[in-house]
Amino acid sequence: MAEIKYEDGRKGAGIRTGAQYLEGLQDSRDVWLEGEKVADVTKHPGLSRGAHTLASFMDKQFDPEYRDIVTYREDDKDIPMSFLIPKSKEDVVRRGAAFYEWAKWSNGVFGRTPDYKNTSIMAFAACAKLLEEGKVEFADNMLRYYEYASTNDKVLTHSLLNPTVSFSEAKAGRSNADVTLKVVKENDAGIFVTGARLLATLGPQADEVEVFPSTVLDRQKDEHLEYAFAFVAPVDSSGLRMICRDSYDHGKSNFDAPLSSRYEEMDAVLTFKDVFVPWERVFIYRDPLLCNRAFAETNAVTQMMHQVICGKLAKAEFIVGLLCAMAKASGKDKDMNIKGQIAEAMFITETIRALRFSAEQHAHEDEYGNYIPLRRPLDTSRNLFPKMYPRLIELVQLLGSSSLMATPSELDLTNDIAGDVTQYFQLLNLESKDRIALFRLAHDLSVSGFGGRQTLYERFFFGPPNVMASIFYDLYNKDEMIDRVDKILDS
Ligand SMILES: Cc1cc2nc3c(=O)[nH]c(=O)nc-3n(C[C@H](O)[C@H](O)[C@H](O)COP(=O)(O)OP(=O)(O)OC[C@H]3O[C@@H](n4cnc5c(N)ncnc54)[C@H](O)[C@@H]3O)c2cc1C
Repeated sequence: MAEIKYEDGRKGAGIRTGAQYLEGLQDSRDVWLEGEKVADVTKHPGLSRGAHTLASFMDKQFDPEYRDIVTYREDDKDIPMSFLIPKSKEDVVRRGAAFYEWAKWSNGVFGRTPDYKNTSIMAFAACAKLLEEGKVEFADNMLRYYEYASTNDKVLTHSLLNPTVSFSEAKAGRSNADVTLKVVKENDAGIFVTGARLLATLGPQADEVEVFPSTVLDRQKDEHLEYAFAFVAPVDSSGLRMICRDSYDHGKSNFDAPLSSRYEEMDAVLTFKDVFVPWERVFIYRDPLLCNRAFAETNAVTQMMHQVICGKLAKAEFIVGLLCAMAKASGKDKDMNIKGQIAEAMFITETIRALRFSAEQHAHEDEYGNYIPLRRPLDTSRNLFPKMYPRLIELVQLLGSSSLMATPSELDLTNDIAGDVTQYFQLLNLESKDRIALFRLAHDLSVSGFGGRQTLYERFFFGPPNVMASIFYDLYNKDEMIDRVDKILDS
């Protein structure tokens, strides 16, 4: 990586510029979108602007306004804060501030910023000792990979899920041999994998894919050993293909599509055909039990929830701002019922803020000597937000109603009908142009295909809601509460 010289004389950066990130995407990756192979992700109309937005965020890491919030200094290098292994409560709080800053750059709409996956690599490295249970070398591999990813500012996606062919089989932890990603061969150099995995958000715009376990494997069965692994592979690995959904970036201007013209983070199904993974990039192998324990026991899931809650806070705040601006535009903000509706969005926002605060302030040391935010408030947020977000979007729809449809395009402000548009689209407190801009933003968030995908993302990206809820139930300390019920029954 080219060395970057800072104006203030500091040298040697672990962080990359946007240009370096974009250059890294111009490799031989096998990405398919809307029926065609993508020649260059950085130039393809459906992917390019999302990648350039992320590039602009990478550049912000160098901006003196943000640098000390989103990076830390180690060995004469600036490293993304998400890689900081927290050794104190203050470190946890610093990490939270960096997550929140990154999220504010897109108001949480670009959900899969690199700090999410950086956090999982950090957590696995911080608890690498656990991987020694598989093989001592696996722990070393993780520590080396952490060093590589953090000092080269790699952008990772992840693919945790085996595609469901039969729900009952999947629920029982059994894998479908024709579809599920599995190891088909191994030799002295590494393993070869074939099959499919879901669902890499940002995949085509990432450098590397983390293929970690999440499906609970049936640990009793020997035939599941070939499905039990954790590794990381470069996106341009030979035999790795990314099959994308349709793009929501339809080439519209920032005025016409304020969100989808900027924040298209693509989702892709991954297929692997004899993809070679060298041993140095393997962290768990043929160990279903360790696969099942890994995310929880490294606290990766808690550390990742910390990144997530900070992003959700930024997003909820943005929606409160949007609702207030919409109400003010027509003077609805004086109406008690409207105020009550918007207050509901404020309650949601303040709930998330309080949960984040509680998690950070109750950060504690784990058995590896690292600090983790308190899981329960984060887990509460992880379970509540997938239900709260659709309600936030419903509030935008309820307040916006037909204004979400009274949205002529930017061109209509200058073409033959510009006179009508300028006259008839005004609101009490907004000229027509500004009213159209505001409601196009609300439309992109709450009605467009892009907005629909945002809602789906919030509902599911961390996992099936009832599965997450049942984990919460299992972890909850219920005994003391049950005792209180028993006491009154006994008295
Ligand atoms: C926009 C978007 C982005 C995503 N990005 C990523 C990503 O980057 N990386 C990644 O790995 N994954 C990603 N996912 C996948 C996400 O993790 C899954 O959607 C989620 O775990 C649900 O799994 P599923 O889609 O297979 O649905 P299913 O498993 O079919 O779940 C559908 C419903 O079935 C029920 N259900 C599922 N499992 C059980 C069970 N064991 N017991 C009882 N009921 C159950 C639940 O009610 C659930 O709502 C993404 C998903 C979306 C929608």
